[in-house]
Amino acid sequence: RGTMYHSHGIEVYHKPRDFTNLDHDAGFNLQKLAWIEQKDTAEAFARVRVIDEISEDTVLVEHEDHSREEQVSKEQLYMMNPPKYDHVEDMAELLHMHEPAVVHNLTQRYKRNDIYTYSGMFLVAVNPYRNLPIYSTDIIRQYRKKRRGELSPHIYAIADHAFHDMLHDKENQSILITGESGAGKTENTKIVIQYLASIAGNGSNGFGTGFAKKSTLETQILQANPILEAFGNAQTIRNNNSSRFGKFIRIAFNRSGDISGAFIDWYLLETSRVHTQTLEERNYHIFYQLLNAADQGIKEQLKISQHCPADFNYTKNSNHTIQGVDDTAEYSKLVHSMKIMGIDANERLEFFRVVIAVLYLGNIVVNGNYSRVDVSNYEMACQLLEISPQSFKKNLLEPQIKAGNEWVSQSKSSSQIKDNLDALSKVLYERNFGHLVSRINSAIDGPQSLEGMSISEGERFIGVLDIAGFEIFKVNSFEQLCINYTNEKLQDFFNQNMFVLEEREYKKENIRCDESLDYRNDLQPTISLIESSKNPIGILSCLEEECVTQGTDERLLAKICDQNKSNERFTRDKYNQGFSIKHYAGEVKYQTAGWIERGKDPLNENVARLLAESTNPHVAALFKDYAPELPNSPVRQLDVRKSLYRTRKGAGNFHTVGYKHKQQLSVLMDTLQKTHPHFVRCILPNDRKRPGEIQPKLVLDQLRCNGVLEGIRICRVGFPNRLLFEQFREQYKLLAPDLIENERDHRKACQMLLSTSQLDSDQFQIGRTKVFFKAGMLGKLEEHRDIR
Ligand code: ATP
Ligand code: MG
Repeated sequence: RGTMYHSHGIEVYHKPRDFTNLDHDAGFNLQKLAWIEQKDTAEAFARVRVIDEISEDTVLVEHEDHSREEQVSKEQLYMMNPPKYDHVEDMAELLHMHEPAVVHNLTQRYKRNDIYTYSGMFLVAVNPYRNLPIYSTDIIRQYRKKRRGELSPHIYAIADHAFHDMLHDKENQSILITGESGAGKTENTKIVIQYLASIAGNGSNGFGTGFAKKSTLETQILQANPILEAFGNAQTIRNNNSSRFGKFIRIAFNRSGDISGAFIDWYLLETSRVHTQTLEERNYHIFYQLLNAADQGIKEQLKISQHCPADFNYTKNSNHTIQGVDDTAEYSKLVHSMKIMGIDANERLEFFRVVIAVLYLGNIVVNGNYSRVDVSNYEMACQLLEISPQSFKKNLLEPQIKAGNEWVSQSKSSSQIKDNLDALSKVLYERNFGHLVSRINSAIDGPQSLEGMSISEGERFIGVLDIAGFEIFKVNSFEQLCINYTNEKLQDFFNQNMFVLEEREYKKENIRCDESLDYRNDLQPTISLIESSKNPIGILSCLEEECVTQGTDERLLAKICDQNKSNERFTRDKYNQGFSIKHYAGEVKYQTAGWIERGKDPLNENVARLLAESTNPHVAALFKDYAPELPNSPVRQLDVRKSLYRTRKGAGNFHTVGYKHKQQLSVLMDTLQKTHPHFVRCILPNDRKRPGEIQPKLVLDQLRCNGVLEGIRICRVGFPNRLLFEQFREQYKLLAPDLIENERDHRKACQMLLSTSQLDSDQFQIGRTKVFFKAGMLGKLEEHRDIR
């Protein structure tokens, strides 16, 4: 039988370990095996044996492969865990919790195809790049209603706990999945949703058997993904199916655990991909699906019956096909999913038409002769968008702008026009995407709308967040700032949670915890640096102000530096190209070139108004906020709220992407605050998309960025190792076997054992059911025990 105990605030079923077998370690002195960091190798750490103590803080070590000896400072030495800790399922149980131990454990487990591992409050998931037989109805059944620790770590366990906690505690839940591109966030998100759909059969009793036949609603929820992926995913160097947007899917359940609806929020679609991709990448899947795979009838209606990706500027300079991906099969999946969603042939065509119009817009060449399409490109675009080509041409080439009280024509250079067209393509594509998501939501939102959180009484939700992790590239720009800002907030959220849970645990166990150990505000200076809106104003507000006043990149940078120079996390770049921020994951240099241009209103108002008057209702709806109609009609309000589009504050006034993101993020954080969170961290094992191969250095870098090591760092400031009295007694009885032999009270026995150890009294505390140790202390005890 096992015991229940809390590890960092989490209920855990603890499998009994066989502590009688400790002698198995005898014969080789564990304390002398260690890791040292290897700066420039993919291995990250080397195994060494300590052979001599040179001075108080240096030792001589020999590499385990006997390749060489070297002197290292004791600080560089990380003690190796004894072999009985190999392959531990929860890294919070490690005797020595540090970077090499964590990397080693994950590597070892990965080699056995154990891709899931706990690390305190995190579930770490390493991408297997192969189909493992660990996802099936049978395995889903196995994970139902199991406590953590009863079965091996699994994303199913996380989904099951979320479901259980939701019903049991009557509290909303969230599952936060982050990681680098290609690490497996979207796959794990799908697995969670499949799990929930199969255990919570609609109309069946979620508490009981579940596994009922799927209802239409569940089928629809599952079919949302192929649609989102066709329009929001693309092939990149890192991932053949990379999500170019973040999403938060909330699934609502009624009191008895049946699914009653779902709602999708989305963040930061990468719109620049619409007009530019690198040679090895592709534009959004939908472009190629329509060009390569749509049936002839559809292609005729879309005016691409004779066309292929090579015919369009927006697709010709990219990959046209992806190895291992069949656009035809994907296209049929898309159509199938759209049908299930209730999006009929006509409506599908509306969404497709906008996508193709974007391609024609990209082909418009001003003052040039290039055109492989026989009909003029802008006429094609106008036909698809159902707007007048004459008005479009006029507004594009010579838009009317207001100068004082008069309207005057402004002529534009051909490069300005090109920029305008690209901007228009981005806006069209993004709005079309936004409407598609709203359309999906209207199909799956269920009877009680989740939108605006107005779920009815007794209803709860589980939200799954699939959002890009921390990014540090060679050149980091505004997109990275937005992503890293998001991750800083999410890490802050994690820290707050961990603190609350730890505090609760300490209180329960009656343990004193020094106030200086409060890490709740660790990230606040970085967050303020980015988002503060007053004295000093942060980076996003500086950008907003400079965009409104038509500033320049230079002025923007000067303002950012001036406002934030005394912030400890901020450094200005000595070449005046940008600035650096010390994020929890490391220092990142950002370049500010082009921020103002990108932040400015990208849309030509005249063209937007023209689109709002399109005879095509779908196109007109995309630009409803430009229509000169009743400002307060309910439809309009709904649309504006649902969309990521700019919020117009009157003519010529708008908000930058950064500002909108800040607002959206704040809504997301408010939602998350009211949930019980579960944290999943996905890891990319290698940079070659290959199964079975794991690069420790790559893994280490990700652990530093994704909060797992940060989690270990903050847990080490308190009392990270904790053992139940009985467990402690059993494990360390060798410290003073005679003394405790006849002591029946485990707590007293522990006290006795500890009094014979040479540990300082502030290095451990005895609680109500457990002994708590500061980092490294258990290692010392092991040393004493082994010497005896
Ligand atoms: P991005 O940020 O680019 O969207 P991501 O983290 O969402 O990346 P995924 O698209 O989920 O990454 O995964 C990339 C690929 O890795 C998948 O297409 C799949 O081939 C493989 N993969 C990920 N997780 C698993 C898994 N659990 N089992 C099998 N294959 C997986
Ligand atoms: Mg993804």
